[in-house]
Amino acid sequence: MQIADRCVAYFHYTLTNDAGDVLDSSEGRDALPYLHGKGNIVPGLEKALLGKSVGDKLNVTVAAEEGYGAHNPQLVQQVPRAAFQGVDNLEPGMQFQAESNMGPVSVVVTAVSGDTVTVDGNHPLAGETLHFAVEITQVREASVEEVLHGHVHGAGGHHH
Ligand code: ZN
Repeated sequence: MQIADRCVAYFHYTLTNDAGDVLDSSEGRDALPYLHGKGNIVPGLEKALLGKSVGDKLNVTVAAEEGYGAHNPQLVQQVPRAAFQGVDNLEPGMQFQAESNMGPVSVVVTAVSGDTVTVDGNHPLAGETLHFAVEITQVREASVEEVLHGHVHGAGGHHH
């Protein structure tokens, strides 16, 4: 069975950046399931998996535009330290939920300088070229319910 719309495919993956650093991997975990055609995974990887079947191994390079998007400098902002009341030892790397006009977004503190805190609302992998090494381990038809919900149910998927 080949991967197509209305299919659930399970795959193992290792994700590296241009420098070869491993950013994420399914090693030691169950294969990751996704529902094809619903944007469950980044667009560049989803396109590359179309038509593949169990046992296929492939290396996929995904440009930032088809991955987590370009880095948007407008999402990097400087805010006063007073906005972080109740937070002791504010330091780079800390994550917070911030309100924006598009709803809550996750931001990371990238710098603390005196009373000024720099936060970045970009996805951590925005602007990165993604290198996936993928092995497909299972392909099955999606249930009607999965298609309606737009995600996988059961092991590795949603439980509700
Ligand atoms: Zn569901």
